[in-house]
Amino acid sequence: MYPDTRLFIAGEWTDSISGETLPVLNPATGSEIGRVAKAGQTEMDRALAAAEHAFRQWRKTPARDRARLLHAAADNLKARIEEIAPILTLEQGKPLAEARSELRNADDVIRWFAEEGIRSYGRLIPARRGGMQQMVMKEPLGVVAAFTPWNYPVAQAIRKISAALAAGCTVILKAAEEAPASCAAMIRAFADAGFPDGAINLLYGVPAEISEYLIPHPVIAKVSFTGSTPVGKHLTSLAGAHMKRVTMELGGHAPYIICADADLGSAVSMLAGHKFHNAGQVCIAPTRVLVEEPVYDRVLSDFVTAAKAVRVGDGLKDEVDMGPMANARRLDAMDRLIGDAVARGGRLLAGGNRIGNAGFFFEPTVLADVPKEAAIMNEEPFGPVAVVNRFSQVDDAIEEANRLPFGLAAYAFTRSQKNAQRFAEDIQTGMLSVNDYGLAYAEVPFNGVKDSGYGSEGGPEALETFQTIKFVSQTNL
Ligand code: NAD
Repeated sequence: MYPDTRLFIAGEWTDSISGETLPVLNPATGSEIGRVAKAGQTEMDRALAAAEHAFRQWRKTPARDRARLLHAAADNLKARIEEIAPILTLEQGKPLAEARSELRNADDVIRWFAEEGIRSYGRLIPARRGGMQQMVMKEPLGVVAAFTPWNYPVAQAIRKISAALAAGCTVILKAAEEAPASCAAMIRAFADAGFPDGAINLLYGVPAEISEYLIPHPVIAKVSFTGSTPVGKHLTSLAGAHMKRVTMELGGHAPYIICADADLGSAVSMLAGHKFHNAGQVCIAPTRVLVEEPVYDRVLSDFVTAAKAVRVGDGLKDEVDMGPMANARRLDAMDRLIGDAVARGGRLLAGGNRIGNAGFFFEPTVLADVPKEAAIMNEEPFGPVAVVNRFSQVDDAIEEANRLPFGLAAYAFTRSQKNAQRFAEDIQTGMLSVNDYGLAYAEVPFNGVKDSGYGSEGGPEALETFQTIKFVSQTNL
């Protein structure tokens, strides 16, 4: 049932010339389920040539024609959701319902960018003299090198591809080797829609080898990366040395502030729902829960109950709320972070252990009263663990929210307009959701500040990251 994955270059599915492949594991069993082709320099050169060639035509393709093709790709993807979802679950671990939702979301993202591309206007600036026109034109940047991670193999790629193609760029996507087949199936939906050969190319291989070769290459005009902050900083400096534009969607460590006047029921149920979604391997997942003193015990006890009720198992089975972690590295990280927190005096109130000895399962975990010095209070946990700490003044909660170099997502629950306004003004974050979990829709900005990166992956701002501005002054003779 699980397909091997090939590369997609210049409109053709292909193995690498070396014949080399990499293993793909099922995180629910730890066993190999398939192989993915490993690109070398020959394949990278072919992809570069194809993307450059396709760009000459694609940049001049009318926005409405681009949109028609994007909608056709979305139609294909939508029709194949039931076929692709189990593949996504098999290689990444998330429950089938989450895999389906990731694919439905991809359909939504493609269509939104298709429509937004049509409305990407330039402007006319009133000129200082008669007979003169001052025009601002938006143009596609060129060939994009996109790098996407394993936590959302389809969703992370679709934001970059849809915005880039809608803007008139062509793409070389280096997607996640650990979960390659669902992304390849998504690319097939584009290929079958009739995109010009070379408009989208898909590579897998050794990430560092591919980024070190593509980013400095003169054909590449723009780099878009989603992943960890250390890798993002490295790729940004490489891009900077070659004056390439970047979008960096990096790590977070989201504060989740619950004030005493909040609707506690909805604050806790949203926390439990989103904390354990995708086994916590989400850059905007709540990680530092900060609860105002008078309601601390109640919130903690309700959250612990909710965490203990999460049903963990193979994502392909019915009645599973949380699958395994995507790889063994995350299990090791969980052991290290939780062990360190407890050694420093944090209270372990739920979970804390691996489950079974096959696959990468870990218990939904709740830690309380963890000191700031603990590693988990400073490093993105990227797993099914939340720290619940207390605060007595709103100022203290804001100070804790801003203490780290991250600034991706933040959440606050309060009925006070005054508090809500303070959070909006004073939390250093790219995204803030008050009394809700309302982030990451196609039409809204998705971006970080500080070490969480820069450049939006949502909204009109995302389209603009693939465009450059050209100013034309024209005087009639
Ligand atoms: P990692 O830092 O090795 O890799 C993170 C991602 O970057 C992976 O997709 C990897 O393939 C890619 N990558 C690594 N080195 C690269 C290079 N030189 N060039 C191009 N791509 C490269 O860590 P990991 O163990 O895969 O993931 C752990 C951490 O990464 C997590 O703790 C989390 O902070 C972060 N992460 C973030 C996201 C996100 O959505 N922002 C997604 C996945 C991982």
